[in-house]
Amino acid sequence: MTSRARLDEPLSRALGQARGKNPLSKLGLETVGDLIGHYPRRYDDPGRLTDISLLRAGEHVTVMARVVQATVRSMRNRRGALLEAVITDGRHRLSLTFFGKHRGSLYAHEQRLVPGSTGLFTGTVGLYRGERQLTHPAFLMMGEEDLASDEDMLAEAARPIPIYPATATVPSWKIAKAVRTVLDTLTDADVPDPVPLEVRARAGLPERLAALRRVHRPDTMADVRAGQHRLRFEEAFVLQAALAKRRALATGRPATPRPPAGPGATRGSLLADLDARLPFELTAGQREVGDEISAELATARPMQRLLQGEVGSGKTVVALRAMLQVVDAGGQAALLAPTEVLAAQHARTLRTLLGPLAEGGMLGGAANATRVALLTGSLGAKAKKEALLAAASGEAGIVVGTHALLSEHVRFADLGLVVVDEQHRFGVEQRDRLRDKASAAPHLLVMTATPIPRTVAMTVFGDLATSSLTEVPAGRAGVTTHVVPAGNARWMDRTWARVREEVDRGGRAYVVCPRIHPDDDGGGEDGMEAVPPPASGPGGDDDSGPGPLLDPGAPPAAAPLRAVLEVVEELRGREQLAGVEIGVLHGQLPPADKDDAMARFASGETPVLVSTTVVEVGVDVPEATVMVILDADRFGLSQLHQLRGRVGRGAAPGLCLLVSDAPPDSTAGTRLEAMVRTTDGFELANTDLELRDEGDVLGAAQSGRSSSLRLLRVVKDAKLIEQARTEAVGVVTADPDLHYAPELAAAIAEHLDAEQEEFLERA
Ligand code: ADP
Ligand code: MG
Repeated sequence: MTSRARLDEPLSRALGQARGKNPLSKLGLETVGDLIGHYPRRYDDPGRLTDISLLRAGEHVTVMARVVQATVRSMRNRRGALLEAVITDGRHRLSLTFFGKHRGSLYAHEQRLVPGSTGLFTGTVGLYRGERQLTHPAFLMMGEEDLASDEDMLAEAARPIPIYPATATVPSWKIAKAVRTVLDTLTDADVPDPVPLEVRARAGLPERLAALRRVHRPDTMADVRAGQHRLRFEEAFVLQAALAKRRALATGRPATPRPPAGPGATRGSLLADLDARLPFELTAGQREVGDEISAELATARPMQRLLQGEVGSGKTVVALRAMLQVVDAGGQAALLAPTEVLAAQHARTLRTLLGPLAEGGMLGGAANATRVALLTGSLGAKAKKEALLAAASGEAGIVVGTHALLSEHVRFADLGLVVVDEQHRFGVEQRDRLRDKASAAPHLLVMTATPIPRTVAMTVFGDLATSSLTEVPAGRAGVTTHVVPAGNARWMDRTWARVREEVDRGGRAYVVCPRIHPDDDGGGEDGMEAVPPPASGPGGDDDSGPGPLLDPGAPPAAAPLRAVLEVVEELRGREQLAGVEIGVLHGQLPPADKDDAMARFASGETPVLVSTTVVEVGVDVPEATVMVILDADRFGLSQLHQLRGRVGRGAAPGLCLLVSDAPPDSTAGTRLEAMVRTTDGFELANTDLELRDEGDVLGAAQSGRSSSLRLLRVVKDAKLIEQARTEAVGVVTADPDLHYAPELAAAIAEHLDAEQEEFLERA
């Protein structure tokens, strides 16, 4: 029988610290379990030194290097002494500086820094007269550890050196030492293993403690890989088991079947009537996906479907047809959009497509007509009351809205289908709250233009079945993309001249900025992720952040971000745009002004629109031909892709200009290059994943929630995730209450805190 007692033991006690002090609490490590779960971020080969040329100013680093020289001298202009040392990786040099009250206080350091010897040096990279250096680095010279025997010493010398996420005051080797102390006293019985024996046997995995030893105290890099593999599997397995359990619960609550109206229906079918009046032929893909959805709506098993489709692939019509099937069957549908602009546009689009079919109860409305109600937070009291009534009475077959739809006051007569547009902008918990508004489980259709790789979908959404619209309706001219260096005045002149040309030709131009006010700190719009923070900012004093320690990317430029209100002034004064009307749109405008700005842009009254990312999703102005994105490097690839999708939707070709200061060889520059290279959303999504930190990937998809995954990489570990999923489903199916796998049950409860479990339930 195993117990968690040892893992829950406070570190102060386990490490035998005086007065109950825990030196590792700075790192958030309180218990033995915390410490053994603090995995090394990388390993140094004892024979290989760190590449010093890759160190960036501001980074907290641990480097392995050889001492070239160390000299103590008095300071010239001040009292005190200075120890200057130089270390090298064999090619590049780095200086170390230590200050002391007098020469004597530095001799101890000097003695240890023997030229020719190798050590680990930890500190924050600073700049002195343009040269990188470490001031007062903590260091450990090889051979300084007190080892029992020569044998130990030899073994030690050949081992990969684990480098832990550390801080200046708790260097990596102190953590390593604590881990060693703790690991030496643990037995298998102390370390419960959530992966059942037979699963381990089938997958050829070592026991948990053995894996932990390999990760923390490897003899070889092969040990590290084997240990990490096992721990990754465990992460995937626990997560998939949690998802499988939740899924079993969710599908336990039946939905009301909403079969398509047959030919013998008593009143005319709205769906058939819509099909008859559509101004275009459905594409083959739209038909296929439509049939799939239609069949699922007809069953008592709640549909859980993700519809992916490039921007402009025509998802709205697919959703509308699904909604009408539900309305025909006597139910209601809700359509959730991430912004008011988009909700209003959806309502308009649906009403236009439906024509008299949406004029229920009105003169001239069709006999079988329903109504489309729009419910957003900013409606006037009277309009809101009407919309609420229409939803509660069932008079409105379709209710469109933002998260206002989630408020307590909103009731539905019989909610049968929830459609969520642009999922990546919409929190999982929001979409679930809407589901809670129905007595039976409503069917769920999630639409996204951001292609989601299968393993991400599996990890983040657990269980949504996926449909894809791959073709874009014919007659779209497409978009060309260029990067424009922001600092080049001639190129910028040319940019605005191009905008002018398009306007003169009857086109429209979007100009997107990352901020609204020039004096903002760059916060988001409508609580959305408008501006992702720079990849990993300099200046932090610990290296516990995600990402490789030695990231060769350039530090982000410190130039202030362009702001809507400032840019609009600049453009109004530009000779290239003299006489062109310029509109403004951002999330802080009153809703009526937003609608107005969109309408005037659509009509051509203000053919240039300076805005934030409120135009990112779904907005449809066929005449729009130019998209200028300022500080383009500050946006995620999927955001840029969405923005670009706003142009080239009509017959005229689109032009997307990405204005940026990012050097071409930086990570940001690489992302922009990817935008130029391809318009394929799937390829971009994959590039994005490769260039981003994992946390960002899951974080964005989970709307800001931090991920519980530590070693697992959803893209790279696709096969492992599939395997873990199969095993997890097997275990949960055979033993739904995990009666025979108490350690797994405990792991699910422990690893996923209450909030995360909630989130899983919703996915
Ligand atoms: P998205 O998938 O980006 O949400 P929309 O649903 O907004 O795309 O569709 C984009 C445009 O394409 C709309 O103007 C819509 O009316 C039009 N559209 C949709 N389906 C077709 C089709 N089969 N043929 C021609 N145009 C279509
Ligand atoms: Mg859309």
